[in-house]
Amino acid sequence: MTRAEKAERIARILDDFYPRTPIPLQHRDPFTLLVAVVLSAQCTDARVNQVTPQLFAAASTPEAMAQLGVARIRRLIRTCGLAPSKARALAGLSRALLEEHGGRVPADFEALEALPGVGHKTASVVMVQAFGQPAFPVDTHIHRLAGRWGLSRARNVTETERDLKRVFAPEHWGKVHLQLIYFGREHCPARGHDHARCPICSWAASRARIARERALIPRHRAPPDRSASARRGS
Ligand code: SF4
Repeated sequence: MTRAEKAERIARILDDFYPRTPIPLQHRDPFTLLVAVVLSAQCTDARVNQVTPQLFAAASTPEAMAQLGVARIRRLIRTCGLAPSKARALAGLSRALLEEHGGRVPADFEALEALPGVGHKTASVVMVQAFGQPAFPVDTHIHRLAGRWGLSRARNVTETERDLKRVFAPEHWGKVHLQLIYFGREHCPARGHDHARCPICSWAASRARIARERALIPRHRAPPDRSASARRGS
């Protein structure tokens, strides 16, 4: 099976599991989405969604966020990981938006990535979710899934993004990104589970990959190896 055929079959399975792909981070517009995505680094979406109502009540525009200042932003986001650096980033990017972009979030990769605290993945999320531009945000979870499913053999997220963009159509990148996130969260523990029971790994993961992952599991926690029989359809 080629990578493209695999991707097609995986896309059908993901469509069955997740026909709707709501954006997990609550937001009102491109600026509040940008803020939420910056906050989501090393923090769960659920936690970010607990923090943002109060933050946006105090400041939901670049002007208000810049006026709020680092110390108050930090207090409002203190339950998110890395609060000090995120507070500095939010104040800094708000100032940059005011000074360089007329107080608007630019729909442009280069301009977004030049903002404090905004890397390529954050810019990709904003481009696809706020502006509907083709972008495929890839984090370490998606990188790992792409490797398990044989869609990429890349060693880093940059190359995985390139490989995934080759096998999925641009108009589906944003949807597939969200479906992969949902699937990973709901189905994929970090390690120590049975690949033969999985609707995707059971046929998409190579034996070598499954064997490598099983080797990382402590013997007493490893599930019985049903991958061979699963492949035979028994
Ligand atoms: S086998 Fe595990 S890692 Fe692979 S897709 Fe299924 S649940 Fe995720």
